[in-house]
Amino acid sequence: MPRAIVTGGAGFLGSHLVDRLLAEGYEVIALDNLITGRIENIVHLAGNERFRFIKQDVTEYLYIDGPVDIVFHFASPASPVDFATKPIQILKVNALGTHKTLGLAKAKGARYVLASTSEVYGDPLVHPQTEDYTGNVNPVGIRGAYDEGKRFAEAMTMAYHRHHGLDTRIVRIFNTFGERMRLDDGRMVPNFIGQALRGEPLTVYGDGQQTRSFCYVSDLIEGIWRLSQLPDYHEPVNIGNPDERTVLEVAQLVKQLAQSPSDIVFRPLFSPDEPRRRRPDITRARQLLGWEPQVSVEEGLRRTIEHFRARLAVG
Ligand code: UDP
Repeated sequence: MPRAIVTGGAGFLGSHLVDRLLAEGYEVIALDNLITGRIENIVHLAGNERFRFIKQDVTEYLYIDGPVDIVFHFASPASPVDFATKPIQILKVNALGTHKTLGLAKAKGARYVLASTSEVYGDPLVHPQTEDYTGNVNPVGIRGAYDEGKRFAEAMTMAYHRHHGLDTRIVRIFNTFGERMRLDDGRMVPNFIGQALRGEPLTVYGDGQQTRSFCYVSDLIEGIWRLSQLPDYHEPVNIGNPDERTVLEVAQLVKQLAQSPSDIVFRPLFSPDEPRRRRPDITRARQLLGWEPQVSVEEGLRRTIEHFRARLAVG
């Protein structure tokens, strides 16, 4: 039976990835220090003998007995709120944690998959973003901890590939939403849905004309799964939904789908460096993986609203 390690395995994306790997017949060990991950995300796996959870900070030495076929490094706080409140943990998990997990993959002869991000493009001057665009990042801005942490992680991953011959993959993940996001995550979709369901004003930052492109979680996991199975490809691959919307449009859509009486209010931007526009060019993923998103933003939001409604009802 193939054996996988997932760091950040109790997080939003990590826990969905764990579910997929178990469904594909893997034995899975999830590592998470639970600073943003939640046990609730994996509690349904209790008693599954192919699953093990280890509470561990992956910036420290990793002891794993037995063979490992693939390591997915998905641990990292990823909300802009975390960029301000946890910058050192973010830099450590992407620098030291990437080093430790690469070292583990090398010791075990395992394939390695790095969860990278569209933030490596910073506030992009090329639109939509192709993988060969090298980005426009302010290293000393509030977002710098995350952006530069992930850029370092990519550089380290390529160094292990080139220098040690490690079989690596890099997935650049664009904005993703869906079940299991934290209600207090601080990102746009959980904020808007939580606000809409509680009847509070939806807080649009800035003028709301900045854009993002949102991918529903099941589509994202499908793309990552396919990339992880693709032989011999080591360049970064964008995975995201190219359906670009303004933030104000998303606020209006959430309000409408949740049938919420809430107002929409405008608040100052969280960070002056925040990207004005973001949309993945997914030509590479289409060609290599035959992948593209299947779930519309509207359908994904409907599912996520119902999930949040149920969670808010139980408190
Ligand atoms: N945003 C907003 N209201 C919120 C939270 C976020 O208007 O309550 C905006 C934010 O300024 C950004 C976009 O929504 O333009 C996406 O923000 P998010 O925190 O989801 O992540 P980002 O893509 O900036 O990393």
